[in-house]
Amino acid sequence: MNCHLDRRKFLSAMTLASAGVTLGGPAFAYLPSENKKPALLGGPKAHPGQFPSWPVAGRSDEQGLVDVLRSKKWGRLSGNSVATFENKFKELTGAKHCLGVSSGTNALYTSLGVLDIGPGDEVIIPVYTFIATYNVVVLNYALPRFVDTDLESFQIDATKIEQAISRNTRLIMPVHIGGSPADMDTVMEIAGRHDIPVIEDACQAHLAEWKGQKVGTIGMAGAFSFQSSKNLNSGEGGAVLSNDDAFARNAFNFQNQSRGTDSDSSTYRSTRGSNLRMTEFQGNLLTTQMDMLSSQARTRSLNATYLTELLREIPGIYPAKMYPGVTESAYHLYMFRYDKREFADMPRSRFLQALAAEGVPCSGGYRSMNKEDYVQRLAKNRHYLKLYGEKAMQEWVETTSCPQNDLLCEQAVWFTQSMLLGTKNDMEQIAQALVKIRNHAGELAKSGSPEKGDKK
Ligand SMILES: *Cc1c(COP(=O)(O)O)cnc(C)c1O
Repeated sequence: MNCHLDRRKFLSAMTLASAGVTLGGPAFAYLPSENKKPALLGGPKAHPGQFPSWPVAGRSDEQGLVDVLRSKKWGRLSGNSVATFENKFKELTGAKHCLGVSSGTNALYTSLGVLDIGPGDEVIIPVYTFIATYNVVVLNYALPRFVDTDLESFQIDATKIEQAISRNTRLIMPVHIGGSPADMDTVMEIAGRHDIPVIEDACQAHLAEWKGQKVGTIGMAGAFSFQSSKNLNSGEGGAVLSNDDAFARNAFNFQNQSRGTDSDSSTYRSTRGSNLRMTEFQGNLLTTQMDMLSSQARTRSLNATYLTELLREIPGIYPAKMYPGVTESAYHLYMFRYDKREFADMPRSRFLQALAAEGVPCSGGYRSMNKEDYVQRLAKNRHYLKLYGEKAMQEWVETTSCPQNDLLCEQAVWFTQSMLLGTKNDMEQIAQALVKIRNHAGELAKSGSPEKGDKK
């Protein structure tokens, strides 16, 4: 089980397997679970152990939180833990300014507030993203314009941004989904030509790089999340990075009730503001957690790169492609496409069931956002009807179609970032699970009841 597989032997064994070579030959000595039954049909699990648990907490985290508690300075206006975090994240990313806020959603919300995005404005977003990207647009009564997905990379299809631009477009908000950078050269080129600002939703992309530059520092600003599942975590939390002095100043003011940092903090700086401040507890926990971030990122990246080498050999499994400009992915998610035609037409729901049974936690990822009732109902929202008119909202619903994304949402499979903190052996067992499922795809497909499985 914990025998370390030589990569070349492993790959050649998998190639043989995929070529339909009779099982049980000498090459398969390296694939202990290869010729066994899938776990779902009563065989042993390909991954019998545990993946690392998340989050990881140690003594320094504990001490830091106790220190804040005892200081009796629990808010950023009285303490300096948030400021310490901001300086450290700034250094790590190379950004000129960093502002800690209460969540990733509020990091985006602050950015839209600074740009004064409001009713009548249009904001371009990818359709393949977490709902928060959409929510911050409609919270401002602006109109979200979805751009279809690049099936190969899972990212916004940057070549389709230009056709989504209208005279009302005020912002382009690419997302580095899964922690892999979107095609930022194309995004910035189009945005520059139309003189439209770019805010990067980097909520999944801590320390990811585009051509050696950290994402979140390429556009006017970048938003990060420190919610529990994210690669840097304080339960809840967020940050805005920017290299623009005025933007950074206005961002601070916005999340501080439109009040500034200086002694004259009773003066209001703008016409709108809120309290979106980060607490000292969050700031302190992020500072200690950040000590592990770079080494964790390296582990994820090495494991993910290795897993991709292994999975590439399996027909019907297509790991998300990276653009040539990507010099580092954060691997918040490990994403691949599953083509059921290579798996005896086994529905994805059955495939996910079989994989989970092997001891490999997995999910099918996002559903088509533009087709969610929640999103479609916007066309009936009384404020939107008043602001944009019935005809415009009807058109909006009709133009939200994203066919590539619909395909992707049927094929996607995700692993979470914490699985990538495991060992090489974990990666090999994931690959073994997939090979085993493929070799028994016919039986698995026949024995399943996908209708029931899909509903649950
Ligand atoms: C997590 C996330 C957010 C929101 O962050 P929260 O901290 O949960 O508010 C926004 N966008 C994307 C792409 C995310 O993954």
